[in-house]
Amino acid sequence: MSTATELTTAPPLPDPADQMLAGYWEAVARGELVVQECGSCAAPQWPPRAGCGTCGLSDLGWRRVAGTGTLFTWTTVHHTTIEYYKPALPFALAAVELDDAPVRMLGRVRGVHPDQLSIDQPLTVVYESVAPGVTLPVWEPR
Ligand SMILES: [Zn+2]
Repeated sequence: MSTATELTTAPPLPDPADQMLAGYWEAVARGELVVQECGSCAAPQWPPRAGCGTCGLSDLGWRRVAGTGTLFTWTTVHHTTIEYYKPALPFALAAVELDDAPVRMLGRVRGVHPDQLSIDQPLTVVYESVAPGVTLPVWEPR
């Protein structure tokens, strides 16, 4: 039985049954970052949804993006119940505005103390292996 204060060793992992995100996780496993793209009007969107937020149609696929962006905002995490992340404390959880798609992605920033971050700071995505066969995108200064 799990409790809210129980420590867990592994970070939360992608749900392989979540079909909405399957294409995203497949891309991440290849070392690529993608956003959802409408096949009808070509609008990019993130996070993925069942329908296009621009035209309403549901002909949705994936667009590869460069994996670079700028820091829109962040919050500093000082405490976690997830054992995997304890060595990284304190770290920033950021909203990153992508350079080549008008969307913002949330993610952890590593390689820099949160006190050293600044709005509009250039970031690049890197891929962190967190469990056998599981890679997560994280952000670093560039
Ligand atoms: Zn559309």
